[in-house]
Amino acid sequence: MIMGDVFQFMKLSRNPGDKVEAAVRKIEFKEIYTPLHSVDACDQAGRCLSCGNPYCEWECPVHNYIPNWLKLVKEGKLFEAAEMSHKTNSLPEICGRVCPQDRLCEGACTLEQGGFGAVTIGSIEKYITDEAFKAGWRPDMSKVVWTDKKVAIIGAGPAGLACADVLVRNGVKPVVFDRYEEIGGLITFGIPEFKLEKSVIKTRRLIMEEMGVTFRLNTEIGVHVTIDELLEEYDAVFMGMGAYKFMKGGFDGEYLPGVLEALPFLINNVRHSMGTLPEGEAHQSMQDKRVVVLGGGDTAMDCNRTAIRQGAKSVICAYRRDEANMPGSKREVGNAKEEGVEFLWNRQPLGIGEGADGSLRLHLAETRLGAPDEKGRRAAEVVEGSEQIIECDHVVIAFGFQTEAADWFGHTGIKTDKRGRTVAPEKQQFKHQTSNPKIFAGGDQVRGADLVVRAVFEGRQAAEGMLSYLQVW
Ligand code: FAD
Ligand code: SF4
Repeated sequence: MIMGDVFQFMKLSRNPGDKVEAAVRKIEFKEIYTPLHSVDACDQAGRCLSCGNPYCEWECPVHNYIPNWLKLVKEGKLFEAAEMSHKTNSLPEICGRVCPQDRLCEGACTLEQGGFGAVTIGSIEKYITDEAFKAGWRPDMSKVVWTDKKVAIIGAGPAGLACADVLVRNGVKPVVFDRYEEIGGLITFGIPEFKLEKSVIKTRRLIMEEMGVTFRLNTEIGVHVTIDELLEEYDAVFMGMGAYKFMKGGFDGEYLPGVLEALPFLINNVRHSMGTLPEGEAHQSMQDKRVVVLGGGDTAMDCNRTAIRQGAKSVICAYRRDEANMPGSKREVGNAKEEGVEFLWNRQPLGIGEGADGSLRLHLAETRLGAPDEKGRRAAEVVEGSEQIIECDHVVIAFGFQTEAADWFGHTGIKTDKRGRTVAPEKQQFKHQTSNPKIFAGGDQVRGADLVVRAVFEGRQAAEGMLSYLQVW
């Protein structure tokens, strides 16, 4: 390695780690990027220019100290890098794997802007924690002064985990409740193994338990335990319950057998591989089936690539805008193409009918992009007379998710906005407090369906709000 060479970025090209060949990876549910070797991580970190004003940090939603931990990696100081990485991010090994870096830190890297290829920030972030854990590093809890405060956290997704991480490091005992059998929320049950292997989350669970976090799984608040019991027993409550209301298409045939909702399809597959499918629930396999996935976000890509790995005969992804206007990560669209997914851009579903042999007949029309809306997104308008029919066995609908109020919001005084999002603003005396002073909230439940790293940030911010509210700070 060329120590201290400011021109390393010109001598060494960007290397985010090898990608398993499409022919191999499309038959297995394993992460597709191989880990960086320590020499490569060190060399790649050395490409960083240590900009005086690091745009990568600003674009990273948790504002990671990126150039600082890159420098530590370059110097071979793995444990110090892990310590620093955890100062801003509770789940760095997970964000390193699933963040759309091309839109966040790496998209803003000065080298990317200059045409040299961004520093491989995501791969190095993943490398730091994976390797530090393997080498025995653990978060330093030796200076924690324990208080007598207890907080209940509803939801073991990224928001709840991040909140628990900050609370426990400040001497407050968190008890995390989740209705599922494993922690992680959508990072366990939504995001498939080819992006994030479940062993990574299991390791994080062990680390958090060692730190003093208690998990009470298979426990749904409102069913097994009431919110009133939590309010009685704990000093404060954090809600990170996510966004799970399925967005329908609103066209004929949505409820036909063979038409599936994206998330139950993905959860079924994850549970099948974890061996936790509920009794009586069969594995929903696409083997030898012709599959059409409707949608253009990360969920649609995950459905496409899951169906490919299950052995589908064909997988078509139809999206109503063009490729440039897709909401999903460009990297994941590229991966899906390499694995054999066929894309139909500018296609709008009109309805689904039944074929004589029990197959489905999906009616699509071509679209063109109209004028931009207030957010700058161009609406898709149907082109008259452009209808086509695709025969298939399954249609998977992946149009996204919305938040909704739980039954008990009313009597606890929790307010939601007109889109069902819990009102818990960051900018107020106690960050992310809801209209019930004892209850805080963050993540998808407050923002609407978004990204892991933003849920982590809000969970951390809410923990800070709670620490002030509980007068621990
Ligand atoms: P969640 O992860 O949804 O966790 C909420 C938790 O609360 C769940 O475990 C749920 O069981 C629990 N819960 C809810 N109600 C109760 C209750 N009453 N009692 C007990 N427990 C309850 N983001 C990325 O950054 N990169 C990606 O590649 C990416 N891919 C995605 C792929 C899919 C298929 C999906 C659906 C989402 C993806 N996302 C991705 C988005 C990301 O997963 C979410 O933004 C993130 O997980 C939100 O975190 P959260 O903690 O707010 O909610
Ligand atoms: Fe980049 Fe995400 Fe890591 Fe921030 S958390 S540095 S955006 S990969």
